[in-house]
Order: sequence, then structure tokens, then C-alpha cells
Amino acid sequence: MTNHPGFTLWFTGLSGAGKTTVARALYTRLKDLGMRVERLDGDVVRESLTKDLGFSKEDREQNIERVTFVAKLLSRNNVAVLASFISPYAKTRDYVRNETTNFIEVHVSAPLAVCEERDVKGMYAKARAGEIKNFTGISDPYEEPTNPDILLPTHEQTLEESVEMLVQELSKRGLLPEPISN
Ligand code: ADP
Repeated sequence: MTNHPGFTLWFTGLSGAGKTTVARALYTRLKDLGMRVERLDGDVVRESLTKDLGFSKEDREQNIERVTFVAKLLSRNNVAVLASFISPYAKTRDYVRNETTNFIEVHVSAPLAVCEERDVKGMYAKARAGEIKNFTGISDPYEEPTNPDILLPTHEQTLEESVEMLVQELSKRGLLPEPISN
């Protein structure tokens, strides 16, 4: 059994920036350290907890508010929460910061051109064709974090480098396990 505090590592960035990919890789890494880890992912949450919501500003805020409630309960009970959500509004991200334990904002900063080139789910093409409305970066705003705790330029570094940066930051903040002394 390991002893570690809870925290909320919050990945924000455009669709296709790498939020889910990095969170998954980090999840495995932290699990290997014996940590209590939970992932909250936009795509998954929108098919369950918030499947009634759309993509208007109000619905996007409501989406994050519900997720924040979950992240709050987990992180205050010593769970490492890895949350990947576009979360385009700075004010909403500040709300999460205030509500959760040991909040760390990670800006996954691959620019629009790179995300569009990757077009992992074919959604940018659809958004450009007008088939998807309110698509972040194309027809809906993304307010870039002005002062993120961590900047992850996934267009300039490998997945391994990103994971290493995060592990180092967690270590620096005292959020990794320490052996329980007797
Ligand atoms: P998001 O969750 O931000 O929408 P995804 O993680 O679903 O993004 O998709 C990111 C895509 O970019 C994946 O197909 C991933 O393999 C690719 N990719 C390429 N280089 C990197 C990198 N250095 N870090 C993370 N993802 C990368």
C-alpha cells in the first residue's frame, strides 16, 4: 500500500491536442507506482454522466461543473485524478481550481493547424464542412490558459517526454507516494 495525497491534474486543450493520450500513458505510470488513480475523460463522460448536454456555452459549463463535483470527491479522498476535457473557458477552469484538491492546470498546447492535420476522429473535416456546429477552434472559442502550471507542447515533444515532465512536476509538488513508515 502506498501513501500519497490526492490531486486533480487537469488537461485542457483543443480536440486532438493529446489530452487523452497523455493521460492514459500517465495513468499506467502512476498505477505502476501503486497509486490510486482515476481518469475522467470528456468523450466518456459525455456518453454517461452528461449525455443530456450539448455544446452551447451553458452546456459546456454544466458539463465541467458535474465533472468537477466528481473530481472534488475523489481528489479530497487521496485519489489522483487525471481529467481530460477541452474546457475552453478560463472562468470555468478557475472554478475547477477552486473546487478541487491540489489542482494543476496542464495546457496541452498543440496548435489548431497540428490538431487539424492529425484529425484523429475526422471531426475537423466535418466542422470545416459545417456538419458539426460549435466546434472548438473552428466555430467556437478556446480561451488559452494565460498562466498554466504546466505547458505540454505535444507537437514538439514525444509522449514519453510529456509523461516525464508530469512525473517530475508531481514529484516536485510532493504528490507521489512515500513509503509508510512504521
Ligand atoms: P485529445 O484527447 O486532446 O482530443 P487525443 O489524445 O485523443 O487528443 O489525440 C491525440 C492524437 O495525437 C493521438 O492520435 C496521438 O497518437 C497523436 N500524437 C502525436 N504525437 C503526440 C504526442 N507527442 N503526444 C500526444 N499525442 C500525440
